[in-house]
Amino acid sequence: MLATAHTPTVTRVLRLRIKDKHAAWLRAQAREVNFVWNYANELSARVFERERRFIGAYELQRYTDGATKAGLGLHSHTVQEIGQEYCRRRKQFKKAKLRWRVSGGARRSLGWVPFKTGALKYGHGQVRFNGRWLSLWDSYGLSRYDLRAGNFSEDARGRWYLNVTVKVPVAARSEGRASVGIDLGLKDFAATSDGQVIEAKRFYRRYEAALGKAQRARKKKRVASLQAKIKNCRKDFLHKQSTALVRQYGAIFIGNVNASALAQTNMAKSVLDAGWSAFRTMLQYKCDSAGVWFEEVDERYSTQTCSCCEARTGPTGRPALGVREWTCSVCQASHERDVNAAKNILRWGVAGIAQTFSITAERAEMNKAPSPDDARAGRGPLVEGISVL
Ligand SMILES: [Zn+2]
Repeated sequence: MLATAHTPTVTRVLRLRIKDKHAAWLRAQAREVNFVWNYANELSARVFERERRFIGAYELQRYTDGATKAGLGLHSHTVQEIGQEYCRRRKQFKKAKLRWRVSGGARRSLGWVPFKTGALKYGHGQVRFNGRWLSLWDSYGLSRYDLRAGNFSEDARGRWYLNVTVKVPVAARSEGRASVGIDLGLKDFAATSDGQVIEAKRFYRRYEAALGKAQRARKKKRVASLQAKIKNCRKDFLHKQSTALVRQYGAIFIGNVNASALAQTNMAKSVLDAGWSAFRTMLQYKCDSAGVWFEEVDERYSTQTCSCCEARTGPTGRPALGVREWTCSVCQASHERDVNAAKNILRWGVAGIAQTFSITAERAEMNKAPSPDDARAGRGPLVEGISVL
């Protein structure tokens, strides 16, 4: 898989799940990253206030260089990369001061520990970073790649991932797998951005009458066996669906629909049947072991937003729950409600990665940047990892 100087290559990001036993150490690293980031933020604001200019990455480095000696446990390359990323972001947002990175409390920033090319070494199924061997689910076979810059990142549930850039030959791209967005629903279990609709199964309702009868007759054993039956049917269904999706796609973006909020409403029985949370957990671990990119996406406005022109022209509010098909009043595109939502989830998911995962530093040495279309809309080939930029 290593590309020689003559083969045209593309840069890809591989994402691998780090074993949970390293989470505490990574969190501690992330706290120090936040410290350096906030230091850079304060310095940048002060210099701007005093001298009406932006402090550059090189100058910033002079201030942060001593930091590793002064008791910080970060790799010096990580400290440099934080400064450079800080300056890139500041330029991107055209501000003298950015948001603080918060280490604790409800508004805590998700952990992020960047590193440069050369900071990561592979050996016998583990990666060595900043003096530590970290074990992970090596779903790609990392030994085949030349590991370059990247980062460790934490997701909302506290799981850690290694995101590392590699170069792969362009020729291999044709055999890739597409990315997909998934909208979970009640009427249908799920819709995908490429138009598949997975029908919902009413496991509970199927046995509801029998269950009620057994409960009224106080037949405890019968009740327990019916409940076990419902549970098994549901689990079996979720396993089959999640396995099929993981086999089919290279990256999966799924809406973060919250079951507990909806369970308070008169839709409770359908919500329980849907098993969204169990489904996402299954998808998550299957993706982790298969090397499929998995990301939960904030799905607010995914139904209202037109996936063609991004105007919020779709059905809103409770009365619109029954609207299955609609036409955008701005661009006249006609949409199937849930498929449209899934397309938005995919687009936002991919955009989120590009934003949180900036590898601009690597750009200069890339032979040819992969087109952003590659990772979009379920039509792009995805060979290994996911293409960013
Ligand atoms: Zn539109």
